[in-house]
Amino acid sequence: MYSLLHCHFESALRALAVHKPGTLGEVRAVASSSAFGLVGPAERLLMLWRTVKHTAASEPDLFTVETFHRVADAFVEEMVADQVEHVDVRIGTSLRRWRDLRGAVDAIAILRKAVARSEAELSVSFVAGLDFTKPLDEVERVVTGLAEGSDPAAELFAGVDVNLLPADLAKFDRLLPVLRQLRADGWKINVHLGELFDNDVSRYVLKRLVPDRIGHGVLLLDDLEVIAVLREHDVCLDMCPVSNTVLNVIDWASSSPAKRALDLGLPVTINTDDPALFGTTLRANLALSGLTAAELELVVDTGRKHRYGPR
Ligand SMILES: [Zn+2]
Repeated sequence: MYSLLHCHFESALRALAVHKPGTLGEVRAVASSSAFGLVGPAERLLMLWRTVKHTAASEPDLFTVETFHRVADAFVEEMVADQVEHVDVRIGTSLRRWRDLRGAVDAIAILRKAVARSEAELSVSFVAGLDFTKPLDEVERVVTGLAEGSDPAAELFAGVDVNLLPADLAKFDRLLPVLRQLRADGWKINVHLGELFDNDVSRYVLKRLVPDRIGHGVLLLDDLEVIAVLREHDVCLDMCPVSNTVLNVIDWASSSPAKRALDLGLPVTINTDDPALFGTTLRANLALSGLTAAELELVVDTGRKHRYGPR
C-alpha cells in the first residue's frame, strides 16, 4: 500500500474525463504533436493546459455539482486501483468554474463523503495549490485568505503547495512573510523545484524558505550545495517519472533520479503528478522509476513518514 504525496486534483480535466472521456484524446494528441517535441518542459506543460482550458470551455454543462460527485467517486476509484493508503491532494481554493460549489470547502466535503461511502482504507489530506504564475493580487488573496482564516476551507488544509516560474520570484518575495507565517502556524509547505527551471532559481527559493517537501527536485541532484540543504532539513523529494519523461525534464527510461537520490541519502517518493493530464497511474510511475523491490520498500516507508496528517 502506497502513500501518494504529489497528486494534483485538476478538476477541469477530471470533469472532462467523467463527462466526456472522448475529449481527453485532444489533450493526448498535443503530447504527440511535432510542435510539442520542439519546445522545453515549461512550454510543453503550457501547451497541455491551454488545450484543457480550451476543451473545457467548449463544454457548457460541465461544471455541475452532479459532475463533481462523479469526479470525486472516480478519484477514490483511482486511489483504490493504485493501492493507495494515503494521498496528499493538491486542490485549488476557489474552484471558480464550479459555480454551485463554495470553493474548496464544498469540494473537500464531497471528496470526504466519496471516501467514506467507498469504505476504502484511504486517508486523505489536502494541500492548497498556490499558483504563483497567476497575478499577484490573485495569489495574495488566496494565501492571505488561508493565513487569516477568512477562507472557510482554511482549517481543512494540512499545508500549501507552491508552483512558480522564474518570472514569479518577485511575487514569491512579496508573499514570503505570509508563507513564513503559515509555517509558524503549523502549515506544511511544498514547493515545486528542480523541474521546469534551472538551479539558480531553486537556490534563490531555498535560501529564503526550506520547504517540508519538494515537488520533483530531479534537477537538484546536480547541485552539491542544494543536496546538503535537503539532507540537513530532511526534505522529501516527491518525484513523478511519467510527467518528467513526457515533458522532457529527464528521460526516466535511461536514468533514474530516484535511485540517485537514494544513493545520496535523500528521502524520495514516487507519484503521479497530474495523472489525468499525463494519462498515467501510480503503477505506471512505479514501473518507470527504475527502483528495485527493496528500494521501493524504502519509498513506501518514506511516504508514510513524510505524508501530512491534520494540522
Ligand atoms: Zn506537480
